[in-house]
This record gives sequence, structure tokens and C-alpha cells, in this order.
Amino acid sequence: MNLDNLNIQQKEAATHTEGPLLILAGAGSGKTATMTHRIAYLVEQGVSPYNILAVTFTNKAAAEMRQRVEGLGVSCRGMWILTFHSMSLRMLREYYEAAGYEKNFVVYDTVDQKTLLKSILKDLNMDTKEYPVNYLGAIISHEKEADRGPEEYIRTEGENFKSRAIYQVYKEYQKRLKSNNAMDFDDLLRNALHLLRDHPAILEEYRDRFRYIMVDEYQDTNRIQYLIIRLLAQVHKNLCVVGDDDQCIYQWRGADIRNILDFEKDFPSAKVIKLEQNYRSCGNILTAAHSVIRNNKGRKPKKLWTEQDEGHKIVYSRLDSDKEEAAYVAGEIQLLQGPSASYDDFAILYRTNAQSRLFEDALRRKHIPYQILSGFSFYERKETKDMISYMRLVTNPMDDMAFMRIINEPKRGIGAKTVDKLRALASVRGQSMLHTVSDPEIIAGLPAKARDSVREMTQVIDLCRREKENLRIGDIYDSLLVRTGYMKALEDENTIESEGRIENLMDFKSFIYDFEKEKQDAGETATLEEFLEKVATDGDADKYESESGKVTLMTLHSAKGLEFPIVFMPGMEDGLFPGHRAMDSEEGMEEERRLCYVGITRAKERLFLTGAAYRVMYGHGDYTRESAFMRELDSKVLDPAGDTVYSPTRRTNNPLGIDTGSLDGFAKPAEKPYDYLARARREVKAADSAKDLALSPGDRVSHGKFGEGLVLEEDEKTVTVIFDSVGRKKLAKGVAPLKKI
Ligand code: ATP
Ligand code: MG
Repeated sequence: MNLDNLNIQQKEAATHTEGPLLILAGAGSGKTATMTHRIAYLVEQGVSPYNILAVTFTNKAAAEMRQRVEGLGVSCRGMWILTFHSMSLRMLREYYEAAGYEKNFVVYDTVDQKTLLKSILKDLNMDTKEYPVNYLGAIISHEKEADRGPEEYIRTEGENFKSRAIYQVYKEYQKRLKSNNAMDFDDLLRNALHLLRDHPAILEEYRDRFRYIMVDEYQDTNRIQYLIIRLLAQVHKNLCVVGDDDQCIYQWRGADIRNILDFEKDFPSAKVIKLEQNYRSCGNILTAAHSVIRNNKGRKPKKLWTEQDEGHKIVYSRLDSDKEEAAYVAGEIQLLQGPSASYDDFAILYRTNAQSRLFEDALRRKHIPYQILSGFSFYERKETKDMISYMRLVTNPMDDMAFMRIINEPKRGIGAKTVDKLRALASVRGQSMLHTVSDPEIIAGLPAKARDSVREMTQVIDLCRREKENLRIGDIYDSLLVRTGYMKALEDENTIESEGRIENLMDFKSFIYDFEKEKQDAGETATLEEFLEKVATDGDADKYESESGKVTLMTLHSAKGLEFPIVFMPGMEDGLFPGHRAMDSEEGMEEERRLCYVGITRAKERLFLTGAAYRVMYGHGDYTRESAFMRELDSKVLDPAGDTVYSPTRRTNNPLGIDTGSLDGFAKPAEKPYDYLARARREVKAADSAKDLALSPGDRVSHGKFGEGLVLEEDEKTVTVIFDSVGRKKLAKGVAPLKKI
């Protein structure tokens, strides 16, 4: 086999087949490539593929590795190239009995998991408000990642009212999984570990089989994964782990950076090979990456070099607003695309999924094909669809599809059976389902738990419908979110996932805000009907197909291990990247910085960093401060043209005309989602209390949509105002925030 395309260190690593080996090296230095060659080399040296185990981080990476090994002219038949989860599943399928399960045990996904937890809470008479299902699921998962069962949980946590309750749920949860002959994802890893640990004969067999073990992205292994590998490799010690401590970005999911840093302690005879030549990126990109990551204190110092030229400088542009940022990125892609760069050479890597929407919009406008990798497109998100359904019911109460989507979102205790009954009833009566369920008699026949919340829901929709001409779309949206209990349910969950959903909902608010602003700037008023039309057509148009490939959009986290000729990293602002939560701690900042390093080092030829001086986040526009990472980044590699062309002083759209390009001044980290929530709630509450607002003819008032006006007459339910801008309007009290001035 030809190892000549490897450099000396890589070759040394690929041919060092006996004994523990650590390849600790920076991004793009050919770690994965070396591992691939090493596998091929082993087989060529006469090692049976059957004796090789290679663990990767994702299924995609596993498939790619298999392909590359075969590309080197070696067959992978019998070889295990897979992720930790698939490996565990295979072992457990083989030895289900020893693991204490029946043949054909099932693996529960998160939906099954939640259903199970719910039924347990019900049987234990526990309140799902106090103990939200996702919260419990997260705790249980966290405990399992640390290999702690219910007993160990209560022992480490200590006895108190809450830990006792969680303990009981956890215990019952495990019991029922077992009696259902089921495991969840975390059980897969944990059961595999126990299978090996508690059954010497089985361990012996796998040890004998996997004489050569390799693990890519070792820096992101968690405790259990680490223990499994250590058990398997203990006898033959032909373990090769590959990783970069600077790229550990999953600590929030239990990844333990010590696993890689302590490797030499675990295997004292380990050979350590460092790869220092980077083959991926141009000089300037490497310099940029290094200038950022060197600010981390807890790292092994290393520096990469490249034979490639400096290449293009890095373009940093701080645009006036987030929309302009997206338009700028789409514009640059259009300009650069051509014979030398096809669309699939481009990637837009963002910090949060919520950022994708503006880029989707901007790319669509320019008919640039794109794909979103992992994470849903804006229009495919559950919460987006739910809220659209609510709004559709406001414009069209006959919309039974929308009704069925939201009748039990948030959970109102309306099961599938009740929905079926309602549907049948509605069809007998020749009414819409919403109309049917608005009937007090029907409500009285619903399960007791459901009555209040269903009544409230129908009232909110009705109110919004009657007043929709007098309300901004954003007001209707806030009202639906708050008054239907949708937001509250997510808040109660209080998990990473639910916070993500809340962020997406806030992002939806920004979308509405943009739409209304655009109309307003054009001198028109935006109607809810028009808005829903836009949503429907945009959502349908889906992804453009194209011969020349697609621009890739994904989060920085999912970009690990990948590379692209041209990379855009938007949102270089404090509060976004680094994220607001990370900014509170040094540890958090270091993890974000590693993520920044991962992002920069995905780029082969060109890197564009962008930010927005003004960003609408969570439905609220605010000035931003430049990312801390921009201050760290070596300014020598920045393209001065990036600054002059898109200088923050070119602030045509800056509503207040404040220069926010500077680091301090008015700028502050963007608002947190929960601040937005509080504000939305305040506004809805203000609207509520406006019901009791004592108004008399002649008072001056201000209104969210119509501005200031003069009260003409008022009665118990309505008030008639002559607005300076639009003239006479009759408004229902207690719907729109109306203030006396
Ligand atoms: P990451 O840390 O991002 O996972 P890595 O260290 O695994 O990166 P690879 O993805 O293996 O790096 O390699 C980066 C790029 O460099 C790939 O395009 C690979 O083909 C190329 N490469 C690796 N080694 C060599 C070499 N010796 N000669 C030429 N190209 C190489
Ligand atoms: Mg790699």
C-alpha cells in the first residue's frame, strides 16, 4: 500500500500498530486521514478486518470512513466501523440474555421516553407542573451518562423531598423499561458497559476479537464511553485514540476532556504523536484560529503550520442589521460562485438554529440552492407550525386541520378519542370543530381537566379574530402565545430543549416584526392574512434543487470533522457567540472559544466573519456588541476592505443613528429569551388591565398600532377613538395595549 502521501509523523502513526497510541493534534492536520490509512495498513499487514474496531462520532462519519478505507483498496468486510451507540446495540443484541433482556428488546426514542415518564407521574400522583417530563428525562439521562442508577443518584444527591421524588420516578422508570423489554439511548451505553464489566467471558471474547481499536474525536467521549474502551483495550493495548483537546465542544453533554489529557496516565507506555502540519487551511485562516484559541488557559500548547500560502485575508464585516448580514452573505455567495466554486463549496455555520431563518430567506430571494444539515428548517419546526395553526384559526375558524394540530398543544388533556368524537360531532352539526368546541354544552362534556383550558383557548382565538384589524400581527402572536398557555408549558419544562423552542418562538416573532416593518416602510399596513400567505408560499417552495450542489447551513456543533472551501460564520456578537449563558463563567467562555476554533478551522480557502450592529432577537431589536472573539482575533489577517466597504459607519438603517461599531457605548449583550417572555407577558397584562382603564371622552390615548388619538365615546366593552393617523376606530377593551396620556 502506498503511504507516500502521508508525512513522516502521519506515516509513523499509521504504521505504529502495536501498543497504545495517542494522536493529539490540531484541526485539519490529517488525524482522520491518518486513522483511515492506519486501518488500511493493518489489513495489508495481514490483520483480519474482523479484528478491527473503529469508533466515530456520527453515523455519517462512519460511512465516510468505510468509503475511504475501501478507496485505498482494502475490504472492510467484518470490520466494525461505527458509533458508540451502534456498537453497544450490536453487543447487546448478541448477548441480550446476559444483559438481562429478552430477544428483540426495543430501543425507546425520546418520544417513547416521555410517554413512559408521563404515565409514571400519573400513577405516582405527581404533578407534571412541578416535575416536567423533560426535566426529569434530562436528569435521568445525566445520571446515566455518569453511570449512576437510582440508588447511586439518591446517595450522591442526598435525601430531600425533591431528590426522593426524582429517585422514585427514576426507579420506576427503569423498572418499567425493563418490564417492557426496552432500553433508552443512555441505557444502550450503560448496559454495554455493564455487560462487559460483569461478564468476564463476554469481555474476554470481545477483547480477543478487537485486537486493534481506534477512536476518532476522542476529546468528546463521555465517562461511560471511556470506560467501555478502556475495558476492551486493557489486554492487547492496541488502542489508537485521535483527537484535539482544542475541539472539545460537548462538555454540556457530559464529554470529559480529561479522557484525552490523561491518556498517557491510563496507558503509561503510550506513544504520543503530534501532527503539526495542517493540510486543510491557508495560512491566514490558521493564524486567525490560533490567535483565538491561545486565549484558553486549560490547553496543551500547540501550533499548526502550513505549506500553503497565506491565501486570502479574512473578511470581517459588521453589518448594520441582521437582515443586512444575511443579504450580504447571500450576495457574496452569488458573487463568488462560478466556474471555480460551486454552491456546495460554501457553508454557513451559525451558533444557534434560530439564526438559520434569515439566511434561508436571503438565499431564497436570490434563488441560491441550500440545504440545512441537522436541525430543522425554520418552517419545519414544530413550534413554528403550531403557532401558524393558531394564527390560521384566527383568520379562518373553519380550518379543522389547524384545529386538530393545536387542540392539545399545549397539553390540555384532550386525547385522540376526544378529538375523534369532536370531529364526528362537528360533521353531524355541519360546523367547524372550533365552532363545535366553543359551545358551552360541549365544553361541559369534556374531561374536567380540559374544560378551563379549552374555554380559554376558544376565547383567545375569538377575541383575536374580532379585533384583528385593530391589532398588530405581533400583538396577536404574543396574545396567542401567552393566553393559550403555550409559552407557560414550555417554561415549565425548563430544559435545554424547551429553551431552544422558546428561542425559536422568539425568532418567529422577529420574522413577524420584519414583515410588518417592511410593509410599514412601504407605506402599507400588514394584515394577518397576507402574512399567512407569505408563510404558506415560502414554506411550500421548499428547497431548490440544483445540479451544481447546494450551500450547506448548519450549526457549528454539527460541523465538527468537516471541511469546506468557503466558510461564513455569522453572528459574531457578544450574547450570541459567545452565547449569553457562557459569558458568566470562564469555563463557559473556554468551551465557546473552542467552538469558535472548530468553526474557523472548517475553512480551506476563504473565511468570512460577520456580525450585525442591530439584531432582532426574540422579537426585540437591540444594538449589539462585537464578539469578544473578534477582539482576540489577530487583526493582521483581517482584510481591511471588509471594514471599509461594510463599515458600521454606513448606517443607513440605523433607526437611532447611534454609532454602535465601537465596543462599548450603548451596546450591550442581546436580550435573553426570558427577558423577552417577561416583556410579552407585561404587554398582554397591560392590555388586560386596559379593560378597567377609566376613560372618558376627550382623553388622549396611545395605541400600539394606530398611535395617538382622542377618545370619542366609551362604554363597558368598547372605546371609540379618533386616531391622528387613521381616523375613527372602535376598539374592544382589554385586547390591545391602550395607554392614557
Ligand atoms: P479535524 O480536527 O477537523 O477532524 P483532521 O485532523 O481529522 O481534522 P483530516 O480531515 O483528516 O484532518 O484532514 C484534513 C485535510 O487534509 C483533508 O482534506 C485531508 O485529505 C488532507 N490531508 C491530510 N493529510 C494529508 C497529507 N499528508 N497530504 C495532503 N493532504 C492531506
Ligand atoms: Mg477529523
